Amino acid sequence: MHRLRKNILILGGGFAGVESAITLAQEQYLNVTLVSDRKYFYVAPTSIWIPTGENRFSDNLVSLHKLAERRNFNLIIDEVVEIVGTEKEITLKSGKVLNFDYLIVALGADKLKPQGVEKVLSICGDPVDALDIHKKLELLIAEGSGKIAMGFGANPKDSSAVRGGPVFELFFNVHHRLKKLGIRDNFEMTFFAPMETPGARMGETSVEQMNKIFEISNLKQHYGKKIKEFKTNSVVFEDNSNLEADLIVFVPGNSGKNIASDLPLSDAGFIEINQYCQVKGFDNIYAVGDVAKLEGAEWRAKQGHIAEVMARGAARDIIIKENRLPFARENYQDHINILCVMDTGNGAAFVYRDDKKQFLIPLPFIGHLIKKAWGIYIKLSKLGYIPRIPGM
Ligand SMILES: Cc1cc2nc3c(=O)[nH]c(=O)nc-3n(C[C@H](O)[C@H](O)[C@H](O)COP(=O)(O)OP(=O)(O)OC[C@H]3O[C@@H](n4cnc5c(N)ncnc54)[C@H](O)[C@@H]3O)c2cc1C
Repeated sequence: MHRLRKNILILGGGFAGVESAITLAQEQYLNVTLVSDRKYFYVAPTSIWIPTGENRFSDNLVSLHKLAERRNFNLIIDEVVEIVGTEKEITLKSGKVLNFDYLIVALGADKLKPQGVEKVLSICGDPVDALDIHKKLELLIAEGSGKIAMGFGANPKDSSAVRGGPVFELFFNVHHRLKKLGIRDNFEMTFFAPMETPGARMGETSVEQMNKIFEISNLKQHYGKKIKEFKTNSVVFEDNSNLEADLIVFVPGNSGKNIASDLPLSDAGFIEINQYCQVKGFDNIYAVGDVAKLEGAEWRAKQGHIAEVMARGAARDIIIKENRLPFARENYQDHINILCVMDTGNGAAFVYRDDKKQFLIPLPFIGHLIKKAWGIYIKLSKLGYIPRIPGM
């Protein structure tokens, strides 16, 4: 008997959305459609090299049209403006209304907006902002000296909603570039954050090793003071003291996606899910990646590989349900860890933490090449030109 194809709608074309689409589109009995407001899948982890000129902007993009064609799913480029779960209805900016049998929400996160934040630059906002950092850095390099400050904030309502890793990476890469040019000594470089120990979620050993790098490299630290506001060339702290700089890069804490919906949200605005990524109160709606509220250890963080684990888990759940398979469901909380190759421009550190262990392994020179190779691997494997390495 001919089987009626079920409609799967995936909102968002980032790590979580693309992974969901790739997994589900392999099932012939499913009709998979992905909606994205961008025409490309953005490989954010390698975008840290755009400001230093080591990567072109285009090096970090994979065309979603090409992905959809190679991976056999439908693509709509439009902005999602409303989700009505109870009516199984999605409204797009164009006015089009879409329906679904299953919905996967993978829209990523927004950012908190501390006062004056629009006056400074960010490596984790709109992708094209990375080009503005590049321009500003090139100007400072042409001038031959200056002050550079970079930092990140948290979201007091959700300890997982923080993104400090890329800011450390950018900071170290800028240091390395200036050193290579022989002008590092003409620059004052300061890392700032409102918490006493930024990076603490990576574990004590990692923080100690990072502190050593700061000391050896004459990188200043300005920690433990809340940020009051940003001005064009300064960060103003709660006690009205200032950190002056010619180039300021800041990544605020993540906040929930600001979209009209009837889905349940946490205090911080993230979608409430169970351990299988099902949205609470809805059988056929899942939320995966940065858009969802993560449960687990205090040190948990929203990361790309966790977004992919959640995406595969949600996809598997749909496949199990549709085929009434006697398989165990995937609990994303079993896979919570911190895993990153923290690049420094001339090497990297492999950082890992889970419930049982935490470590940092310095990888001088080779670490940089590993991250570069990963960037090529992720693009080719998403497009299906090379096989995926399980879990990567
Ligand atoms: C600079 C940088 C470096 C990073 N480095 C690492 C790293 O080394 N390791 C790691 O694990 N993680 C890293 N991360 C974090 C990682 O990239 C995120 O955790 C991951 O991208 C989350 O995936 P996602 O699909 O949930 O969200 P996103 O990747 O943000 O994708 C969301 C998608 O939804 C689309 N979208 C948003 N709103 C709408 C709308 N209204 N309508 C339609 N589409 C919409 C967006 O265009 C985007 O395609 C880094 C992040 C940044 C920014």
